[in-house]
Amino acid sequence: MIERTLVLIKPDGVYRSLIGKVISDFEEAGLKIVALKLVKPTKEVALNHYPADENWYNSLWEKTKKSFEEQGKQFAETPQQTGDRVRSYLVNYIVDQPVVAMVVEGNEAIANVRKIVGATSPSKADPSTIRGKFSTDSYDLADSQQRAVRNIVHASDSKETAEREIKTWFKDEEIVEYKRADEDILY
Ligand code: AMP
Repeated sequence: MIERTLVLIKPDGVYRSLIGKVISDFEEAGLKIVALKLVKPTKEVALNHYPADENWYNSLWEKTKKSFEEQGKQFAETPQQTGDRVRSYLVNYIVDQPVVAMVVEGNEAIANVRKIVGATSPSKADPSTIRGKFSTDSYDLADSQQRAVRNIVHASDSKETAEREIKTWFKDEEIVEYKRADEDILY
């Protein structure tokens, strides 16, 4: 099924001049960039992108707790505390900083982009993925420095999230339809 997903190259990826390499990984896999811009997001866009959503807070909390416990460290926060804390790190991290936003289209684009991007914590991400290739950051290092995990990219995690996030970053007319030269072979 052809789908669309939202990818952000976060400020760490832009400052480290990884824009071309990240885009290449998607293009080489046969995924098509159908919208693209470099922006400094407002607080409103950042807050809309990272809403205080219960499911997202629970999944952030579970991943963070698991990572702490795997290292034999205690983790005493509630999902609300972890969610509020990480959300404020993330919003502060991207507001008024350079971010590349893109809409990526292709077969099962949401899952395929997440596969190419790798696990949230770069230290756990497979070394063939964008996060594993370009970073060794981890939850506990980020938390000890009171900042967001610098994992180069964000990618939508579901169809519903992708629809909401694409609307947060792009107007309908900014999404461009065209055919790749290799599309007849790819699909
Ligand atoms: P998303 O980009 O939607 O996966 O948003 C979650 C982001 O929050 C991750 O990509 C990390 O950058 C960041 N993050 C998640 N958990 C933590 C944590 N415990 N400490 C710091 N940053 C985190």
